[in-house]
Amino acid sequence: MDTIQDLQEQLKSGKTTAEGLVQSALSKIDATKDLNAYISVLNERALARAKESDKRRAEGKTLGALDGIPVAVKDNMCLEGTRTTAASKILENFVAPYTATAIEKLEAAGAVIVGKTNMDEFAMGSSNETSYFGPVKNPLDSSRVPGGSSGGSAVAVASGTVPCALGSDTGGSIRQPAACTGVVGLKPTYGRVSRYGLLAYASSLDQIGPFGATVADCATLLSAICGIDPHDNTTSARPTEDFGAKLDAGIKGKVIGVPREYFGEGLDKDCKAAIEGMLKKMEAEGASLKEVSLPHISYAVSSYYIIATAEASSNLSRYDGVRYGYRSKDARKLFDLYAKSRSEGFGKEVQRRILLGSYVLSAGFYDAYYVQAQKVRRLITDDFNKAFESCDVIASPAMPGLPLKCGMNESDPMAVYLSDIYTVSLNLAGLPGVTVPCGMAGGLPVGLQWIGKPFMEADLLSVAAATESLNK
Ligand code: GLN
Repeated sequence: MDTIQDLQEQLKSGKTTAEGLVQSALSKIDATKDLNAYISVLNERALARAKESDKRRAEGKTLGALDGIPVAVKDNMCLEGTRTTAASKILENFVAPYTATAIEKLEAAGAVIVGKTNMDEFAMGSSNETSYFGPVKNPLDSSRVPGGSSGGSAVAVASGTVPCALGSDTGGSIRQPAACTGVVGLKPTYGRVSRYGLLAYASSLDQIGPFGATVADCATLLSAICGIDPHDNTTSARPTEDFGAKLDAGIKGKVIGVPREYFGEGLDKDCKAAIEGMLKKMEAEGASLKEVSLPHISYAVSSYYIIATAEASSNLSRYDGVRYGYRSKDARKLFDLYAKSRSEGFGKEVQRRILLGSYVLSAGFYDAYYVQAQKVRRLITDDFNKAFESCDVIASPAMPGLPLKCGMNESDPMAVYLSDIYTVSLNLAGLPGVTVPCGMAGGLPVGLQWIGKPFMEADLLSVAAATESLNK
């Protein structure tokens, strides 16, 4: 897999051009078609943009580290004039009238968007099997899923079609597929990256973030896409940073928190061994391990699925057969138009979530479920705050075991929800997290998830970079 840095060197030395890079990305996308990682490939648009990049370079006006680099973006981010489906039949033919801020920033930095990647429908899932456009395949093992919901973006990077990609993460959708496919995936602090133009799943949890073959590439992408945005009131006013600045800092002197609740029952023993092996190496490099406790963590999955589905039921009410996308052909009355368009346009998993979300918000159950889940969310945030009083960073698995077997979302959806145990709590607390490969189990890569303090992505990425070099 070529990194952004490799490709920049090739561009600088004249060994290739941005147009050449895009052509090679397009032919790799074609050659790996059966992985189903892309929903739309933007051949002409990408080639035109690449030519502009080459022109800038010829004039000595190159824009920076991303100029001329092919990038893929998840198909729940709007890109003006191109189809944006969220992998749903309801938006199958929806053409975005404007561009998401994160993509706009990438393009302003010269990156060339080559395609929109496949995903779980409306980002609901952990297996990438709920897409209207069919499942994404894991290039490392065809009997297992690539993880979701940003599986297309993870596979786009893991299969070498692009050096980096954007995904979105509401409860683990960047970190899990990164772990399942052996690449690096970062969910930034809530508010770090604008959500403007991201088709909303659960607004208080959603965050856009990067995938890369290396930690350095994720840092480069994050530096390009972060920052305050007048279109998104939840973006932070913190100045943008060079997130690659501390990558060589090493791990010496760092205190690594190891949550007692995370390494007991429920974690596959080979995955556990891979993670503990890495933590031992870090100790040998001068880090110290400190046991911490997250006493409310066992309630994370239930409170997450209450809050996420509640927000989803509200966010998805806009798809009514009138304003956007799919409209049922045979509705005679207004109510039928809503009911038929939504029943025909949304897949089963999305309908399940809308029903659950409407239920927990309904008059009789609001206090028992929604309000209670919000209280638990606070307790979980407090648990992390307390743990961070005695450590710099927290180590965690990304997944309870190897990537899930194909078909489980259909046969046992509850087991799939439960596999989110290690990732959803970061979204509830708004914290940044990154998964990095840390070893192997059963012939597949194991992802180690690092959890950071709010807005400390630069430190988090330095720990991730240390993991990467100890994994070589
Ligand atoms: N698996 C979780 C869910 O289905 C998280 C999805 C995500 O992060 N978009 O809600």
